[in-house]
Amino acid sequence: MIKKLDIEGRGMTSQRTRDRLIQRLRDRGIQDEGVLAVMRRVPRHLFVDEALASRSYEDTALPIGHGQTISQPYIVARMTELLLKGSNPENVLEVGTGSGYQAAVLGGLVKKLHTVEVIPELYRNARDLLYQLGYRNIYAHQSDGSWGWAQETPFDAIIATAAPEKVPETLLQQLKIGGVMVIPVGGQNQSQQLQCIYRLDEDEYRIDKHESVQFVPFVTK
Ligand code: SAH
Repeated sequence: MIKKLDIEGRGMTSQRTRDRLIQRLRDRGIQDEGVLAVMRRVPRHLFVDEALASRSYEDTALPIGHGQTISQPYIVARMTELLLKGSNPENVLEVGTGSGYQAAVLGGLVKKLHTVEVIPELYRNARDLLYQLGYRNIYAHQSDGSWGWAQETPFDAIIATAAPEKVPETLLQQLKIGGVMVIPVGGQNQSQQLQCIYRLDEDEYRIDKHESVQFVPFVTK
């Protein structure tokens, strides 16, 4: 059952506040106009607790409960840009739904998004919010993302928003040949690195290493 959320009553943020965030993303080097346009539209203030809504268009990560965070907008933009670079993925998997914000951004850009979250309450909240915001191409599941989402494999692209020490083999296998995975890699107490992993052939992958990042750890059983 979908829980009805009171989103109408949750104040509008001025378009100027949102435009300021978009300008900041441009200043930091985000160039994909499609990504910027979608991020200008997605109401990030609805993905955080009401008490934090006034800070929701700052370029910063914010707590979403259960020790988890909604990623910093710049990181969302950067990972989305890397994921879409030079391709038009149709069937995409996200591991780590969290607040559902990254999913909403992707939902405005790709045909079909499957997103998996391991914490039941976060899964339910994100599922209900995304449904209420009108997304019908986002399929939320409660599951351990170490196992990807076998029912819809293979994926043109995979994005993980929690950092494993080592990329799970199952996720590598669920990537289509020619597809890309964008994932932060590294344990919590060591530095993590944003990686793009391209599947070139059945057993051949290429890894492009990017900047250091800070994500919550990828939970594995
Ligand atoms: N994309 C999110 C970021 C959430 S933080 C957003 O836009 O808000 C990372 C999320 O990954 C957390 O909610 C955490 O519970 C989830 N997570 C961690 N390990 C996981 C796993 N093995 N499978 C599924 N979700 C996982």
